[in-house]
Amino acid sequence: MLARMKYLTLLVLFLTLISNVLAQAPDRRAPPQRSITDLGDGLYQVNTGAGVSPVFVFLVTEAGILIVDPPNPATAQWLQEQLSTRFPGQDVVYVVESHYHWDHTRGSTTFADTATFVGHENMLKNLDASIAEAPPPGNTRDSNNDGLLSREEAQTGTLANFDAMDNNGDDYLTQAELTADTARPDIVFSDRLELNFGGKRVVLLWSQNRHTNDLIDVYFPDHGVLLASDYVWINRMCCNFQFDERPMSVWIESIRDLETLDFDILINSHFDSGNKQDLIAFRRWLEDLANAVSTGIAESLSLEAIQASVELEQYTDWAGYENQLNNIIASAYNSLMLR
Ligand SMILES: [Zn+2]
Repeated sequence: MLARMKYLTLLVLFLTLISNVLAQAPDRRAPPQRSITDLGDGLYQVNTGAGVSPVFVFLVTEAGILIVDPPNPATAQWLQEQLSTRFPGQDVVYVVESHYHWDHTRGSTTFADTATFVGHENMLKNLDASIAEAPPPGNTRDSNNDGLLSREEAQTGTLANFDAMDNNGDDYLTQAELTADTARPDIVFSDRLELNFGGKRVVLLWSQNRHTNDLIDVYFPDHGVLLASDYVWINRMCCNFQFDERPMSVWIESIRDLETLDFDILINSHFDSGNKQDLIAFRRWLEDLANAVSTGIAESLSLEAIQASVELEQYTDWAGYENQLNNIIASAYNSLMLR
């Protein structure tokens, strides 16, 4: 009997302990579901999880390995292990960085022992710029212009990764902390750079000021693959507030130029992959939006009246139609009124 009571007491203590531990445990998300897809002839696509998790590629040739956008240290570490298992003895020779945003390039220094880093010339300036001049991704802004990001200023992914990037734990992020694991490009270019890597062409194309002033798209003509960086989305509303700072005409021209390339597979830096038709549909969405909002402006309608009247019903099945369209119309309105 005594033994049984002791057992019960211990069991209660144990269960109490467990429930306390569970109650105090941080809200851990499920481990990222990373995957590598073989696109043929040495080119591979890497998905790093569901939703907005970054997507990137790497190319393996007899000259070694070229990676575009290792997005963060944990993924870079995982990739390094994958590469050494799958392609033993092959060094990472190049890391191409699509732009300065931490959600795409914060894993690049992992490959610093062997890699040469390639990016747009404006990326060097952005890495040295203030947060106000070169803000992190999403709508995070240094609202009080003190050169630092507080937790209140940080939004979405920057807020979610705040502690991981706050290296000195002072509850503020500096530009240096935001880009701490992003390598400075060794090779930079302005409009176009073609690499011949182990007999395969890799063409880096400046995105003409779409999204950021250092963004590049990466074209693999020998594979018929285009990696279109932020944001070229498929069946998905784009891009919330983006047109406030980048005129819509710049986006449309940038996408039109990509349409002239010969490719079958379109990879986006977030969300789903597709094909050339998806790229054309995305550009048409931008044009339909610009036309609808321009018509309202020409009729001297207020923003609120335009938001109430523009329906763009051909896009009702695109992700974000219900909850983003009003913001996107406002952003398009700002863009079209300003320029
Ligand atoms: Zn970005």
